[in-house]
Amino acid sequence: MAEKTPITVAYGDGIGPEIMSATLHIITEAGANIEIEPIEVGEKVYLRGISAGIEPSAWESLRRTQVFLKAPITTPQGGGYKSLNVTTRTTFGLYANVRPCVAYYPFIDTKHPNMDVVIIRENEEDTYTGIEYRQTHDMMESLKLISRPGSERIVRYAFEYARSNNRKKVTCFMKDNIMKLTDGLFHKVFDEIAKEYPDIQNESWIVDIGAAKLADTPESFDVVVMPNLYGDILSDVAAQIAGSVGLAGSANIGEQCAMFEAIHGSAPRRAGQNLANPSGLLLGAVLMLVHINQPDVATRVHNAWLKTIEDGIHTYDIYTEGVSKQKVGTKEFADAVVARLGQRPEKLKAVNYTSAPRKAPEKHATQQTAPEKKELVGIDVFLDWSNGSANQLGEQLQHANGDGLELTIITNRGAKVWPNGLPETFTTDHWRCRFLSKGGSTSHKQITALLQRLAASGFDFIKTENLYTFDGQNGFSQVPGE
Ligand code: NAD
Repeated sequence: MAEKTPITVAYGDGIGPEIMSATLHIITEAGANIEIEPIEVGEKVYLRGISAGIEPSAWESLRRTQVFLKAPITTPQGGGYKSLNVTTRTTFGLYANVRPCVAYYPFIDTKHPNMDVVIIRENEEDTYTGIEYRQTHDMMESLKLISRPGSERIVRYAFEYARSNNRKKVTCFMKDNIMKLTDGLFHKVFDEIAKEYPDIQNESWIVDIGAAKLADTPESFDVVVMPNLYGDILSDVAAQIAGSVGLAGSANIGEQCAMFEAIHGSAPRRAGQNLANPSGLLLGAVLMLVHINQPDVATRVHNAWLKTIEDGIHTYDIYTEGVSKQKVGTKEFADAVVARLGQRPEKLKAVNYTSAPRKAPEKHATQQTAPEKKELVGIDVFLDWSNGSANQLGEQLQHANGDGLELTIITNRGAKVWPNGLPETFTTDHWRCRFLSKGGSTSHKQITALLQRLAASGFDFIKTENLYTFDGQNGFSQVPGE
């Protein structure tokens, strides 16, 4: 017999231990060839004063096994506790979040009987880097970071996933009509990589109308790839409209490690009563079995689960009078799945996993080889200022002009307020003041001198952003009316 694959298992909080026991019972009965290494994470660890919610020794297990099956955990309310999910994702570079959202009609109620969508969410970048600042009395800032390599690997993962799972189309959601640089890059990378997969259809939607279409006609989508924030929101929407968030599992995939879980939380009010539905975690475990190259076991488990659902054996959360046959608890549900191992569903579509979806795709040559010519052409100086009108600010700031750097525009919350601003424009205490080099390029020395002049005039600059061109193209957004 082949050597057992070690996996790290966290039983979690609330309903976690019950659904994890049920899941492990089913997959072991199905013949999963695994060696379980339990670790403790979550509430108890947080309350011991470890703000990350995980003991240092547990990282060793994760680094050794590189496979993590995790039950939901409770993040205690109040400040100071870091989300274990976010920590695990970023520490291990789990850049792809894969969430299949499938309807099980007519056995589980849904308005979208034919829905079968896989959401692939970028997991590390965007506003989720958590880089935030309070800059003035009135203003908070969150940085949205989108990188070319980050976009390339998630988009490539989506196309590779589509190819190895026999999917026909990959759709990209973004909002590059507003965020022309960040979402614009994501879209551009999508278009570039799509060309390498002529066998797979591709399309792009602005996320607002895309989300509306996804909620209305999900059957017209297949694989959908998107940046972190949109993916976070829309993968919950997709799971819910497929039937229930309680049914979906998800995989977080990195180059070395991967984490598998249910998408729901620890449901503390249902804990310890043998009520919870283990399906989300079980389907997460199915994704894990495919990942560790035990596709036969994954197929046995998934088909037995589909048959159980089809036979109307349902936990309370999916029980519907007239459709369901028997309301069962967590343990009885698990027993029902075990009893059906080897069976296939008759009405629902049976699954057949053949091989592991490819791990992180190889690095590819789409990265730009020749670096562009980068030139410093100015600076945006952000001020905390509440001493008057935009015109007064413009007037005072012009005294700081010099060394080729000249004030060209002032905006407040992105709206142009100087020169020729309108008195109707609402303003706060947070001003962006753009100084551009008259001669085309400038230097750090000239910029530092400008900041010194501003400081000497008593201006509180709370942030600066250098303005660069790349091969002559602006590396900064234009102000409407500039
Ligand atoms: P939740 O998902 O725990 O519960 C939402 C609702 O769904 C509740 O009514 C609950 O009873 C029901 N529900 C959830 N899973 C179920 C299941 N398997 N079977 C039957 N019913 C189920 O969300 P919440 O109440 O917002 O969060 C509770 C805790 O879970 C919080 O501490 C939160 O931080 C944590 N959480 C953890 C994760 C994770 O570890 N991945 C994810 C989300 C929330």
